[in-house]
Amino acid sequence: MADPSSPMSRLLHHRSEHLAKGDPVALPIVASSTFLLPGDPDGSHFYGRNGNPTVEQVEAEIGVFEGGEAVLFPSGMAAVASVFYAYLRPGDTVLVHSDGYYNVRALLEAQFAPMGIHIHTCPTADMMSADKTGCRLVMIETPSNPGLAVCDIEGVAARAKAAGALLVVDNTTPTAICQQPLDLGADMVVMSDTKAMAGHSDVLAGHVAARNTSLLEPVKTWRRLAGAIVSPFDAYLLHRGMLTLEIRLSRACANAMAAAEALRSHPAVKSVNYPGLTNDPSHEVASRQMRDFGPVVSFCLANREIAEKFIENSPLVTAATSFGGVHTSAECRIRWGDDVPDGFVRLACGIEPTDDLVASLTRTLDSLA
Ligand code: PLP
Repeated sequence: MADPSSPMSRLLHHRSEHLAKGDPVALPIVASSTFLLPGDPDGSHFYGRNGNPTVEQVEAEIGVFEGGEAVLFPSGMAAVASVFYAYLRPGDTVLVHSDGYYNVRALLEAQFAPMGIHIHTCPTADMMSADKTGCRLVMIETPSNPGLAVCDIEGVAARAKAAGALLVVDNTTPTAICQQPLDLGADMVVMSDTKAMAGHSDVLAGHVAARNTSLLEPVKTWRRLAGAIVSPFDAYLLHRGMLTLEIRLSRACANAMAAAEALRSHPAVKSVNYPGLTNDPSHEVASRQMRDFGPVVSFCLANREIAEKFIENSPLVTAATSFGGVHTSAECRIRWGDDVPDGFVRLACGIEPTDDLVASLTRTLDSLA
């Protein structure tokens, strides 16, 4: 249960603490691109690209949730891009995961390598020992997506700092409910709020958060000038989803743990990755820095054909990409070019009753023989 100082309690009560008599308790959507502006600008709202009251409310909620300040974006990739565009200059070196979300590397290769930025990659599990000399920025994703490898955030943060690099953590899979990178020394957190934060597979959003708010100034400048602005309607959907984040995620994590246990003991399954499993190579580090282990499990079946059959025949599994939603979904990650065996499945657990989900997964696996 959330204590009064937990991220979730701070998020839930942020709006009610600031209400005056007669104010709406639910967050109003202010759908205006322009605001009354007689005379000179004085810091009040004047144009939607510079600020919108609904968006600012949601940013404030995310800020208290993260334990810092937050800047909202229309997608997770826009949030990631804002950090790269704000901080990387020709001649800089960036160290990034080789096994995390593939579009992060695709963005660096397509846009930043041609500008003369040096891109070094390293598996998540080796991020601690990776050479960070001369790096401007280090970006980690732990647990990594889709292999669920883990690295020690506090250790990487100390080494990045010693090398003079900024540490950015993609915290999309666990969210601040399961893990708080800013408490562990990260300079910035980036998130795809499209996933568990919004949680209903009906909106794209993302954010960047930092405790040292001056780090966010170049990010805000880039957002304003590039125009990567989330709409107030989408900000509202994100807000509405976040209000139930903890209860959704706690069921999804419980489902992931139960699914991982069931998969581990099934003869059709060759291997399972889940940091919550005591025999997982990530478990020791994950248990130190995570409160729960996230909604995603990955595992290997014999080959792609069997993996596709499993996905198609599982009554409680939707064949879809993404994770963090209310419905359990799965996909063969090889279809996106991830460096995984062809029978590798990413299972993104939803909030179905745990016994139903486990029974359905087990029955489908039994039928594959
Ligand atoms: N980071 C991670 C770990 C992701 O899984 C994703 C999307 O799948 C992103 C960032 C990008 O987020 P979005 O799809 O909201 O742009």
